[in-house]
Amino acid sequence: MKIVPVEDLFTIFNETATIMQEELQCTYLEALAETGENLFHESILQEELSELTVKRLKKSYESVNLSDYTKEEIRKSFQLSILKGMKENVQPNHQMTPDAVGMLIGYLVDKFVQKKSFRLLDPAVGTGNLLTTVMNHQKDKTVEATGVEIDDLLIKLAYINANLQEHPIQFFNQDSLEPLFIEAADAVVSDLPIGYYPNDVRSAEYKLKADEGHSYSHHLFIEQSINHVKPGGYLFFIIPNGMFESEQAPKLHEYLKENAYIQGLMQLPLTMFKNEKAAKSIFVLQKKGEGVTPPKQALLVNLPSLSKTTEVEKILKKVDAWYKESKQ
Ligand code: SAM
Repeated sequence: MKIVPVEDLFTIFNETATIMQEELQCTYLEALAETGENLFHESILQEELSELTVKRLKKSYESVNLSDYTKEEIRKSFQLSILKGMKENVQPNHQMTPDAVGMLIGYLVDKFVQKKSFRLLDPAVGTGNLLTTVMNHQKDKTVEATGVEIDDLLIKLAYINANLQEHPIQFFNQDSLEPLFIEAADAVVSDLPIGYYPNDVRSAEYKLKADEGHSYSHHLFIEQSINHVKPGGYLFFIIPNGMFESEQAPKLHEYLKENAYIQGLMQLPLTMFKNEKAAKSIFVLQKKGEGVTPPKQALLVNLPSLSKTTEVEKILKKVDAWYKESKQ
């Protein structure tokens, strides 16, 4: 019986990951991936475990029935375990997208993408937290997805996350800025990696390459995403606030003007970030295509603290009003 679903399931992930971490002499996150895999396959896949450990794990696994939990409950409890593991081995470039931001993007995708069945792409899928949050917030729609990620461990966690939540996601473990052999998507969601992309030879293939020195990987990710979304498709990015003030911004402006219509820019509350320089916004684009027209005006908002529910509701009403006025 589930009493406090997220905590209950977290306890199972946490207990079994800790047992395996000790016995397999690996990191907590690696052990979490192993235990997630076991739970999904309903069997213990690691042959090197002692009899006693197998017994302890079995007892834990038998106390849980995944089908008693909603996708969001599974996602949240897996996310809590990942957060615990990330505290142990701090990886500043691999931070999971916070829940409140994922839910807001989920809401926006549901609003903008009117198709009943569509394909989503996240080219920096990380642990899959953002992508599956967005998928879980689509009302009465069938969503299939593609996730690309360069880090082996993160993509393993993402694929286990997807399996546990029973989401049809195809994963590619590669550099997203190398050629991608994927189906064109109807929409893109991505919390972009920020900073310089070290591979100048590859950058040279992009219109948004820097004229001198390394290019910005977040700029190249925007171009690559536009390349892999269908005409008229929407793109929802988490970008650094300073993106339009950098020395490479004029090129980005020009590229965007040619290829997409800016739908909106929503500044996330500064309180979510360590300092003003680290602050981010949600940037919404639509790829140009036949019959695609620009909105009457772009939606520009400063989001309140996302824990203030009434304030957030007011903003969502503003988004609704803007959508009716500008897009319909
Ligand atoms: N949304 C993700 C989540 O919820 O876990 C977090 C995304 S994190 C901010 C950015 C991700 O981009 C990191 O996981 C990083 O490993 C990945 N990344 C960075 N450069 C990449 C590249 N060239 N190709 C593919 N993935 C890359």
